[in-house]
Amino acid sequence: MKMRECPACAMKVAANSKTCPICSYEFPDSRTGAKWIAALLLIGLLVSWFLFDLLF
Ligand SMILES: [Zn+2]
Repeated sequence: MKMRECPACAMKVAANSKTCPICSYEFPDSRTGAKWIAALLLIGLLVSWFLFDLLF
């Protein structure tokens, strides 16, 4: 089983667990961050298109 270190209590926990069984630290989902960046880029693109239409 793959293991990773809990940043809160430095214990090795299963890589697929969402929370630490020792200190119940919640591991952040890295995929959620990537989704947010993609969404922000898309919104930025749409807003710049809108502003370009408005100004020119
Ligand atoms: Zn922990």
